[in-house]
Amino acid sequence: MATLSIVLPSYNEEQNIANTAKVLAELLQQEQIDYELIFVSDGSRDGTYQEILKAARQDARVKGAEFSRNFGKEASIFAGLQLAAGDAVIVMDCDLQHPPEVIPQMWKLWNEGYEVVEGIKTSRGKESFLHRCFAGGFYRIMSSLIKMDMNASSDYKLLDRKVVNVLLELPEKNTFFRALTFWAGFKTASVEYEVQERAYGESKWSFFSLMRYAVTNVTSFSTLPLQLVTVLGIIAILFSVILAVQTLVKYLTGTAVEGFTTVILLILIIGGFIMLSLGIIGHYLARIYEEVKGRPRYIISKVTDNITGNVIGSWKRQS
Ligand code: UDP
Ligand code: MG
Repeated sequence: MATLSIVLPSYNEEQNIANTAKVLAELLQQEQIDYELIFVSDGSRDGTYQEILKAARQDARVKGAEFSRNFGKEASIFAGLQLAAGDAVIVMDCDLQHPPEVIPQMWKLWNEGYEVVEGIKTSRGKESFLHRCFAGGFYRIMSSLIKMDMNASSDYKLLDRKVVNVLLELPEKNTFFRALTFWAGFKTASVEYEVQERAYGESKWSFFSLMRYAVTNVTSFSTLPLQLVTVLGIIAILFSVILAVQTLVKYLTGTAVEGFTTVILLILIIGGFIMLSLGIIGHYLARIYEEVKGRPRYIISKVTDNITGNVIGSWKRQS
C-alpha cells in the first residue's frame, strides 16, 4: 500500500503541534490513507520539540527532527523531504492555515497519476495592509521574472517520490521551493483552497524577514536584475551622447560657461547608477559566495526514536 508523508515545518509552534497531529491523524485514518507525519522544528525556542516528542509517543507514525538553530522555512521543508519515506509527500504549514480537508483531493489526484498537485490560494486570508501590498508586489515581480503565475501559489503541495528525488538532488543551497516545483515540470494538477486563520500563535514573518526572503528568492531564481545593470548603462550612454553634443555645440559657439549644475547632476546620476549596479552585482556575488562555500543547508541536532540511521548533523540521504 502506498504511503503518504506529510512534512510540517514548525518554528515556535508549541501550541499547534498536538492539535495538528490529531487533526491530521483523524482525517487520514478516516480516509484510510497510510501516512507518516514529519514535524521539523526549525530551531524553535519554545517547547515545540517537546510537543513533537509527546505526539510521537502517542502515535508511532509521528516523526520529528530538531535543527541546531533557526535555518528558515526552506531548510525545514528540505529536511522534511529528506526524512520522508512515503511514495508521495505533502508539504504544509503546521498552523492549519493550509486546510487539511484538501489532502484527500490531492491524494486522489496523485492516485490518478498526477506527479505534482499544487495548492492554489483562492484568497490570501487575513493579512495586514502593508503585508498584502508587499506580497502582491513581490509576486508580480517574481511571476514576470520566472514567467509563471505565482500569486496564488503556496508551499502547500503534493509531490510524487520522483519529484522529491529531483528536488533533493539539486546541488544549490538557496532554494525557492514554491517556484522549484514549477521549474521541475512533471504532470501537474492543482486544487484550490481558502487560506484559514492561524489555529494558534502568530505569523513568524517580520517585515524585515519578508523583505530578505523576497530579495533572496528573486536573486536565486532569476538573473534579470543583472541585465537591468546593462539597461542602466545604455540609458546613461544615450544621455551622455546628448549632453556631449550639447556641450560641444556650446563650446564651439563660445557660450560654455555656466556648466556647474550639469556637472553636479551628472556626477549624482551616474554615481547613483553605478552604486545601484554594484549593489545588484554584489547580491549575486553573495549568492555565489554562499553556494561556493558549500555549507549544509541545515544541521539536525535531535530526532525522534522512530527515525532510523545516523541523521544527526548535516545529514543528506545517499542516493
Ligand atoms: N516556519 C519555519 N521556519 C521559520 C519561519 C516559519 O519553519 O523560520 C514555519 C512555521 O512554523 C509555519 C510555516 O513555516 O508552519 C509558515 O509560517 P507562518 O505561519 O509564520 O507564515 P504565514 O502563514 O504567516 O505566511
Ligand atoms: Mg501561517
